[in-house]
Amino acid sequence: MSYSHKGFLNRLDKFFAENYARLGVEHKGCLSAFLFHGLFRDKNECRHEFLDVQQGITVKHFEVFIEYFLHQQYSFVRQEDILKELDLQKKYALITFDDGYYNNIHALDILKKFQVPAVFFISTSHVLEQKSFWWDVISRERHRQGASPEKIAQEQKSLKTKKNHEIENYIVEQFGGKALKPIGDVDRPLTIFELKSLSSQPFVEIGNHTSNHAILTNYSYGEVKDEMFKAQNHLQEITGITPIAVSYPNGNFIDETIIAAKEVGFKIGITTLEGKNYLPLNFQADDLFCLKRFTLWAQSRFPDECLRARSDFQLKSFLKKILRKVKR
Ligand SMILES: [Zn+2]
Repeated sequence: MSYSHKGFLNRLDKFFAENYARLGVEHKGCLSAFLFHGLFRDKNECRHEFLDVQQGITVKHFEVFIEYFLHQQYSFVRQEDILKELDLQKKYALITFDDGYYNNIHALDILKKFQVPAVFFISTSHVLEQKSFWWDVISRERHRQGASPEKIAQEQKSLKTKKNHEIENYIVEQFGGKALKPIGDVDRPLTIFELKSLSSQPFVEIGNHTSNHAILTNYSYGEVKDEMFKAQNHLQEITGITPIAVSYPNGNFIDETIIAAKEVGFKIGITTLEGKNYLPLNFQADDLFCLKRFTLWAQSRFPDECLRARSDFQLKSFLKKILRKVKR
């Protein structure tokens, strides 16, 4: 799909979601999960010279987000709560952070202030090796060379068809070995010590995001399990916690990914498909292994983005669902 078509579809998606939500009719009995990555102290930190900004969520946005959904009578849940029977008359929210950026620690005071939990999904090799995430390097280096945002996005998209070590080899070839070194607190992963400390904080839960941020559909079945197992072992060693959930890097999963996740012992698998998870969750039908999540981008009026995530009509996920059925 071309960029102009994609842009049009995104605008249409927003239009329907926002106006449907404005009708004020919201389905009760849902679990809405939310995906965050980096958490910036302010807008000055969200700069393409530093990293691939992706969402541009600041500490202030994060606070507004929690206040908004509390005001809308959402209850924020822990992972264990999802495994129980959730009340069909209630609305629930699950906060998730993917990757393991150091700046996620800015969430702690806010979680404590509102007494709400969050799950931090960690890519463990980044913590152990203290290296940059590849998408940040591509964005930073190409930006320095004067490449357009579209060109950078295209290159990132094509790299998402590869394994992590292939992408990192490519980066070293293109920009030299030093390119994988983080520039500072704004883009670096947590250290081992910080991860251990984070995991012991109230309202913090730890999840598995594979060992190498592996886009699992690019790996064999054995490699998928290996990626999940390795991260599980690292997280156990560092935090003493055995995660019960895996967040599939880049949201990529197929039926085999779910089988592997179950074999590794997870109870929950989280995707990046947009939409609410309506209750009751069908445990037999693998609902727990393909939980949907909303991504808030902080690229338009933020309360409107929150409003859109309350909509029971999401055009893009509706179309994707149809496409998947047709492909099968
Ligand atoms: Zn990720």
